[in-house]
Amino acid sequence: MFVMNKFWEKFFYAFTYITQGSSYLSPRAYAVLHRMHHAYSDTEKDPHTPHHASNVFTMMWKTKAIYNNILSYKEVAEKRFTSNLPDWKFIENLGDSWYSRVGWGTFYVLFYIKFVPADMWYLFLLLPVHFLMGPVHGAIVNWSGHMYGYQNFDNNDKSRNSLAMDFLMMGELYQNNHHKLPNRVNFGVKWFEFDPTYPVIKVLDLLGIIKLKTVKA
Ligand SMILES: [Zn+2]
Repeated sequence: MFVMNKFWEKFFYAFTYITQGSSYLSPRAYAVLHRMHHAYSDTEKDPHTPHHASNVFTMMWKTKAIYNNILSYKEVAEKRFTSNLPDWKFIENLGDSWYSRVGWGTFYVLFYIKFVPADMWYLFLLLPVHFLMGPVHGAIVNWSGHMYGYQNFDNNDKSRNSLAMDFLMMGELYQNNHHKLPNRVNFGVKWFEFDPTYPVIKVLDLLGIIKLKTVKA
């Protein structure tokens, strides 16, 4: 959808590490997984389809296995999935280490202890979600986005738009639109579909941080 120079690529690599913290996902391995998902949507070779798994946990477990194989280069991904990928070994190794994951988790616990008022103790129940932010987000998008909702297009797969107004997953739940128009920056297509990430990307483009590619919608 867009390109950026090496400086901003490194900036966002590090920013991804800081914001994902305990549940850091490698941008390189994730990109390969995402390209596979588009190429094999809802078939046996799709790394995360709800249609070849009995429940959301077995789906995510299978995804985790494929992710780990790509991360450690055990599984050689097809050439067409590995071109033009960002790769920063230092952040990759740091983010995937147990020191880092447990360190971030400890930081979240200390943060809650410092800021959660005593009568709102139940907020601590959110900690597991906080530890696993990436997989929780992935599970919601990958499961719902190919299971529940409506279809604007026939994509020869089971992708759906789960919410007509997707503020929950910042536009990621417009899976049906996204599979039909994978290069379109705005995931919303119908007048009532608003993709909250779209204006953010537009502003980054206006500021010159990224450069949107011109593609036919
Ligand atoms: Zn999808």
